[in-house]
Amino acid sequence: MELLKILSISLLMLLLGDFVATFIYHVPEHVFGRYHSIVHHSPNRSFVSYAMRKHCPQALLPGFLGALPYLMWVPLLWLLSPVGTLLGLCLAELHVIWRHQFSPNYRTPEAIKVLCRCFFITTPERHYRHHKNANLAYGDVFTFYGKPAQYWLIFLRHVKRQWV
Ligand SMILES: [Zn+2]
Ligand SMILES: [Zn+2]
Repeated sequence: MELLKILSISLLMLLLGDFVATFIYHVPEHVFGRYHSIVHHSPNRSFVSYAMRKHCPQALLPGFLGALPYLMWVPLLWLLSPVGTLLGLCLAELHVIWRHQFSPNYRTPEAIKVLCRCFFITTPERHYRHHKNANLAYGDVFTFYGKPAQYWLIFLRHVKRQWV
């Protein structure tokens, strides 16, 4: 029972974190922002090294804002299960590392691909499509956020055109 609670809270952390990250940070950042596209979509994705090289401390902000959608749920989820909260954060971080395996030699094993398809998990191959074309493949952790995110992207671009 305790294990079920831990797993549920960690899953909730990923679902809520990816939802806020996708719709409040990632898509708006592609429409209105600057540094996510310049830094994260470049071969050297480090906001810290970009900020130091270009003497541009404001480039650190999107790096922090990328993590905030997950961290913001810690106070609430901690009350329900501290272990589940920590597990959720660890899984989120491990998925960040895994989905950025962009080496030309990297191939996700077929069995893992099937599992990811069943559970709507973003693979490195899918995330690479987003890095190559920012109109595609949203949903950092879960693929089912991809379609609504594209509509959100179209809507926000429309809003931007009305304002500018
Ligand atoms: Zn990425
Ligand atoms: Zn992006």
